[in-house]
Amino acid sequence: MDDLRLENQQLRSERDLLRRRLSEVEESFLRAVHDSQQEMLAMNEALTAANAQLQALDQMKDAFLSMVTHELRTPLTVISGITEMLETGIYGELAPAQAEHVRQIAAQTSRLRELVNDLLDLSKMEAGLMRLRREPLDPRALAEAVLESLLTVGAQAGVILRNQVRHDLPEVFCDGQRVEQVLTNLIANAIKFTPAGGQVTLTAERLDDFVRFCVADTGQGIPAEALSRIFDKFFQVQSSTETGRKGTGLGLAIVKHLVELHGGEVSVASQPGHGSQFFFTLPVTHPR
Ligand code: ADP
Repeated sequence: MDDLRLENQQLRSERDLLRRRLSEVEESFLRAVHDSQQEMLAMNEALTAANAQLQALDQMKDAFLSMVTHELRTPLTVISGITEMLETGIYGELAPAQAEHVRQIAAQTSRLRELVNDLLDLSKMEAGLMRLRREPLDPRALAEAVLESLLTVGAQAGVILRNQVRHDLPEVFCDGQRVEQVLTNLIANAIKFTPAGGQVTLTAERLDDFVRFCVADTGQGIPAEALSRIFDKFFQVQSSTETGRKGTGLGLAIVKHLVELHGGEVSVASQPGHGSQFFFTLPVTHPR
């Protein structure tokens, strides 16, 4: 009997000890949870503050860029005007070296003007101020107009341009000038990154209430790890900048903005070494 009581007592005191330990463990666990919660709250606050600061800096940068770009337009117009006059020879015949320098000034000014226009377009779109003038347009006619304007660029690069856009596609509801800008950017890129002897093919097909255009090239392609960033502002694949290709990394960002403004989508696929395909959709004028 005594043995049993003793055993019972021992068990009880062990149970009490265990209970105390358990509540200690529980307490220290709760304290740790509380501490880490406080830590996370503090980190969250710090992150929110840093984020707000970054956003403010980003807005300042955008406003500054937009202001500088606007200011650059007037002097650029003056430089182009004077260069054109010099080229026509109205101030007298230019010596060959002078003519070459004037030609270089004209080429660099036009590059700078393109950059300024791209920056202005982008800042307008980012501020939500770009307005579209939409009308029903024939996809085949849009493709023809752009391919024709790039024939010389293609020929100089030794790249064949092919228009395989079907004649029987429905009209798309879009701003013709802006869609030509999209196509020009994509086709000019395709030519730029395709070695002589290659091809650039433009196709289009109907997909539900959209027409999907595709600009395909047989060029160098894009590495898989770059595909997700290819439409980002200022992004350029390292290998293409290393080979000395001139660019700004703004073209594809503009393409994406313009297509999305129309309610369409952009995408890209590529097989490095074999070529790339850039796709974009535009809504048809009369949905089914
Ligand atoms: P840019 O051509 O002025 O550099 P883009 O925004 O038009 O700027 O293109 C960004 C980058 O994407 C290019 O620098 C190039 O690395 C890559 N890229 C675009 N189009 C192609 C293409 N068709 N083939 C291979 N790379 C391309």
